[in-house]
Amino acid sequence: MTENTRPDGIIIALDGPAGSGKSSTAKAVAERLGYRHLDSGAFYRAITYAALQAGIDPDRWETLSGDELDRLDVHGVPGERGYVMTVGGRDVSAEIRMPRVNEHVSRMAAVPTVREWLMDALRESGARGGLVADGRDIGTVVFPEAELKAYLIADAEERARRRLMEQGEADLSEQHVRVEAARLQGRDELDSNRAAAPLRQAEDAVVIDTTHLTLEQQVQRIVELARERGGVDPGGEVA
Ligand code: C5P
Repeated sequence: MTENTRPDGIIIALDGPAGSGKSSTAKAVAERLGYRHLDSGAFYRAITYAALQAGIDPDRWETLSGDELDRLDVHGVPGERGYVMTVGGRDVSAEIRMPRVNEHVSRMAAVPTVREWLMDALRESGARGGLVADGRDIGTVVFPEAELKAYLIADAEERARRRLMEQGEADLSEQHVRVEAARLQGRDELDSNRAAAPLRQAEDAVVIDTTHLTLEQQVQRIVELARERGGVDPGGEVA
């Protein structure tokens, strides 16, 4: 890959199961390097939210056509550092994190037409490089040519605890953590066992177990790897 094809820097792909810290890490790494952040899960979430709002029965999602998906009017509007998800022109950043969306999103993401429909928009975000993208199939399908791929994992209960804290949940009792862990594992199973672009580690990905790492340590590790692979600092120097 020559510098001309990636004028803004390398592509960093972060994949892994739900709650492994991908999104917060990706966002912080992007800030550190002066890159943009693509949270690909937000796109699947926005489509799911839009379909639920439109009253389309989940049993029919498998048959959604490209035209129907167009009509849902879902967009990732590029901002300075990332993308804001809109449905019908309205910012739905908060709505796409609702439990109702969590419950249904893996079903929507398993539909091949939906994945195809999104692919151009996702790939377009990396056209100039300088991108940290997180998801399930970024290193395997969306950007198989990414210069750096990391696969983040963490114990299910630790992932559940983080997810609950992120949601501002006060009850972090063992029982509650266990229920949330089961929910995350259910989603991981659907994501790993689907036919279309399942969750799996790219062969050339660096595996990072984040169970005992702080966010800062995760970010540091990836920034170091990025520098080794030609990532560019905010000052523009190749570190
Ligand atoms: O990362 P997040 O938890 O927001 O992703 C929500 C869901 O979107 C995942 O559980 C998965 O079903 C789907 N997804 C996907 N491929 C991606 C990113 C997310 O299938 N690249």
